[in-house]
Order: sequence, then structure tokens, then C-alpha cells
Amino acid sequence: MTILAPDRLGKIEKISGPVVIAKGIPDIRIGEVVEVGKERLIGEVVRVLEDHFTIQVYESTVGLKPFEPVYATGKMLVAELGPGLLTSVFDGIQRPLEKVLEITGPFIRRGIKVNPLSRTRKWFFKPVIKKGAKVSPGDIIGEVEETPLISHKIMIPQGTGGVIKEIYEGKYTVSEPIGYIETPEGVNKPLTMLQEWPVRTPRPYHQRLSSEMPLFTGQRVIDTFFPIAKGGAGCIPGGFGTGKTVTLHKISMYSDSEIVIYIGCGERGNEIAEMLMEFPRLKDPKSGRPIIERSIIIANTSNMPVSAREASIYMGVTMAEYYRDMGYNVTLIADSTSRWAEALREISGRLGEMPVERGYPAYLPDRLAEFYERSGRVIPLGNPKREGSVTIIGAVSPPGGDFNEPVTIHTLRFVGTMWALDPELAYRRHFPAINWLRSFSQYAEIVETWWRENIAENFGEYRRRALRLLTVSSEIEAIASVVGEGALPDDQRLFLLVSDILKEGFLRQTALEGEDVFCIPKKQYLLLKMIMDFFDKAYFLIQKNIPIEEIIKLPEVSEMKRVKEDERGMKAVEELYKKVMDSLSALAKKYNVELPW
Ligand code: ADP
Repeated sequence: MTILAPDRLGKIEKISGPVVIAKGIPDIRIGEVVEVGKERLIGEVVRVLEDHFTIQVYESTVGLKPFEPVYATGKMLVAELGPGLLTSVFDGIQRPLEKVLEITGPFIRRGIKVNPLSRTRKWFFKPVIKKGAKVSPGDIIGEVEETPLISHKIMIPQGTGGVIKEIYEGKYTVSEPIGYIETPEGVNKPLTMLQEWPVRTPRPYHQRLSSEMPLFTGQRVIDTFFPIAKGGAGCIPGGFGTGKTVTLHKISMYSDSEIVIYIGCGERGNEIAEMLMEFPRLKDPKSGRPIIERSIIIANTSNMPVSAREASIYMGVTMAEYYRDMGYNVTLIADSTSRWAEALREISGRLGEMPVERGYPAYLPDRLAEFYERSGRVIPLGNPKREGSVTIIGAVSPPGGDFNEPVTIHTLRFVGTMWALDPELAYRRHFPAINWLRSFSQYAEIVETWWRENIAENFGEYRRRALRLLTVSSEIEAIASVVGEGALPDDQRLFLLVSDILKEGFLRQTALEGEDVFCIPKKQYLLLKMIMDFFDKAYFLIQKNIPIEEIIKLPEVSEMKRVKEDERGMKAVEELYKKVMDSLSALAKKYNVELPW
């Protein structure tokens, strides 16, 4: 046991839920981790006032009594970083839940201390530098095959640098020396594969880059219409049952980022249990291996202490930055940030702070900003030069599905894209229920360059025209619901017909299985082009007085709605494209209309 100086020992004065007031440690600092009571519950100092200080305790405080001791640790709340993070399930303060389960059974015993990373498991360390090399923070000195999918880069930690005196190849635990470094002061320091980082401080990087590469999700409504960039931030607000979890799972599985960190934050225990059961079963579509081999899960159910929930998103984002620094693209998913904000609200209430909107503290927007601002695409510190990114996606579950509440409103200020889930669409079983009129993406124009250079020069035009068509059609639909569709002029009926094809044949996409669960960018473009070219040509025919009924009854109309599912993929779309154009030409011929194309 560590021997503490007597003046680093305090005493509890008052307890209010997860908040404890204590006194007696004059040099205590905000952010310092303390151990509270005889059971040594873990907590963090959140306020210091003369000789009193306030602690947010990360475990249940039931049974804690005044006058019990408080031990200062001299440490900030840190994340342990090193091989073994992937495939793990942690709670909000990085206790490895599987290990805890082994020791205490299904109910986490309070005060239990388990190292987040195993101290007995050995990893094969392969150096990439030699004895005598001069190194500084962020330099990659070697690699470990953390899982069959991911090579873990071992980096020189912050505050360390000098000349490598020894470097070993072989099997080591995270705490055994893999070499020695001589610092400029002439001190010989052991190097290990383990680092620590205070979770509330963003990890430094060399240079921030603009986010211009799309993060592909394989979901058409996202990639084509409301894209997110690698290193961007997005949110997905929606009421209960509108498809947040399903959409986020699809993004974890199919997006082209190497690492996924999933923070299950304050959802009900059975929902998280379901996720824990399901996640390891999900297969990486590219390699066929379990996606857990490139994922970390942080689970804080609604029955776990709220303060650990508050900490969980910082824990997650710190791990994300660590893998970013190795040169990976990381997607961080927080489900749900509303439950996290409720934790803030509860703690703030216990601290007696003045609430502003709906009981939330005045610093809610600042905290949301701090979180989302940790997304980004960067050149990390150190050699060799590399790029990495953290993309943050937060689910928001506004009470009653009403977006006009503080968490949704403030989140929208700090994210570049919003996928607005619509209960009406979910009710009609149009999935993903992302409303195309209410969603937005500030990345659309930036990532368009990628589409132009890699897929098609005119992608942006098709995208904008399709969105316009959907908007105009929604206005026409409103009129049609009053006067009836039959009373509309033919060109307006064509708008309705094509918007229906777009909804069925493009926006709607299954989450279950088959060809359509994932759609490559080239196929997304071709489907869009087919539908929009059909619109242009059909519009011309209508201007030449060919009746809309002739167009509606073309068999290709329903084929366009289904071709996305054809197992022949792109080939089927290419064939149908030709068929659609031929049919329209035949129709023109039947009415003796000269075609300009
Ligand atoms: P939330 O997390 O918003 O409460 P879920 O993601 O659990 O909602 O979705 C609720 C239900 O909606 C799912 O069980 C599923 O039946 C259906 N669903 C959601 N998204 C899709 C989708 N993309 N494809 C098919 N069904 C979906």
C-alpha cells in the first residue's frame, strides 16, 4: 500500500448522492483523483474552496458516512494507453468490465481497483528503430500486433526524449522495459509500452489539417446527401425507436475508419447488454473478422453512477486521440450524449449550481464544444510523418423527440452535419429514417472534390438537383393532399413520380442483409444519375405533350426502385440505365417526337 503523507489525508464532511464535501488537504487541486471513505471509492476533485473541497465520486456512495477518510493520490484522472485496449469493454473510469466480472461477479464491488490493461499478458514487440537513435515525443519506436486487424504503434510518450540506449525485440508485458533511453539530463529511463494521459486534456499534435476526405459509411443518404468528413463531427438526433442505434451500428461496421470506439452512455442496462452480445458477433465486411478486433467499448448503463457516465466520453475521446496519433482514422460514437448531459445536470444540481435552461448548467454548451472540438484530422507529433483523424458522432435523444431543447440546440452549434431522424418516416418503416429536408452537412461542398476527382466530374450537380427535386416535390405533395394528385399538371406529377423513385430506389436502404446493406460510392453515383437522367428526359417528353400516364406505366419505373438490391451490383444498374434510356426513346418515337440527345 502506498504510504501517504499525513497532510494528504482528509475527512468527509457531507455527502449528497455522488457529491461529497471534504476538508483537510490544503494543497488539493481541481482534477486530482482521490479515494473516498474506508472502501476507497474513486472520485475526482471538482471544486476547491479555502479548506473545503468537493468530490465527484465515481461509485455508489450508499453507506458512506461523515468523518470517514479521504486519500489524495496526487494524480489526475488518466487513461492507460497501450496494447490491449482493442477488444476491451471498460466502464467510464476505464475499469475492464470482464476482469471485474471475474473478480466480483455481476455486481461491481465498490472500491475495486483493477488495472485497465493486463500486467501479465505478453505482447511481441518489434522495434522499428535502432540503438543510438535520437527520439522525441510521438516518435514510433516499434510495433505490436494488437489484433489480427490492427498493428499497435508504440510511441515515445510526452515529456520523454533522448537517445535510445537499449531496445529489445521479443515478448513483454505492457509494464516491462522494452528498452532504455538516456535523457538530455543523462538519466537512464526504462521505456515501456504503457502510457498515461489525463482524459480532460486533448492530446497534442503537430498540425491540424482540413477535413476534406469523406468518411464513407456505405449509406447513400449519408454519403451522397449529408456526408461527414474524416475528422468531422456529426450528430444524429431522434426520439425513441427512430433508428439511432441501428444507424450507429451500421456506421461502426461499414465506415472506412480503421478503429471504432463505442461509448454506450446511460442507456438502459438491457440495451447495453444487447449491444455487448451483438458487437462481438458483427463481422468486419472487408476482412471477415469480428469487428471487435478493431473496436473498444465503453459501457455505462443508466444504473451505474452518473459521475462515471460524465467521465466516460473523455475516456473514449482520449483513446481515440491515441490511435489517431498512431496514424489511424478513428470513429468515436457516443450513444447518447443526452444521457451524458443529464449526468452533468444531476451533478451540477448536487453542487448547488444555478441552472439555466431546463435545469442544465450554464456550462453545458462549453462542455459540448470541448467534446466535439476533439474531433479533427491531424499530423501527429513525431516521426515518421503520418496523418490520423478522429471523427465524432453523437446520438442525441431529445425528450419526446422535440429538437427544440438545450442539448440538441447547442450540439448543432458544434457539429458539421446533422442526420435528423424522423418518427413519421420510422413509422412508415422508411429506414434509415433520416429526414432529407431537415438534415444538413457543411462538409458536402468540401468532400465534393473527392467525388469529382474519383467518381464523376458532375456528381455535385446531380446531388444538388436531386435535393432540390425532393424539396419541390414535398411542396407539391402538400398541394396534392388537398386537391388530389390527378388534378395536378403533368410536370408536377412527374416530380412526384421521380421523388418517389428517389425515396424508394435511393434513400431507403436496409440495415439487415443482402446486396444493399452497403453501397459503394460508384454505385451511389450511378443510381442517382440514372434517376435524375430519367427525370430530365421524361420532363422533355412531357413538354412535348406525351401524357404522364405513358411514363408512369413504364416497367422500368418499378425496376429503378428495386435495382439497388440486385445481386449483380453495378452491372445491373448499368443495364437498367440503358433500358430506361431506350424505353424513353421508344416512347418519343411512338409520338413522333424528335429527341435532341
Ligand atoms: P433508437 O436507438 O433510436 O431507439 P433503434 O436503432 O433501436 O432506435 O431502431 C428501432 C427499430 O427500428 C429497430 O429495432 C429496427 O426494427 C428498426 N430500424 C431502425 N433502423 C433501421 C434500418 N436502417 N433498417 C431496418 N430497420 C431499421
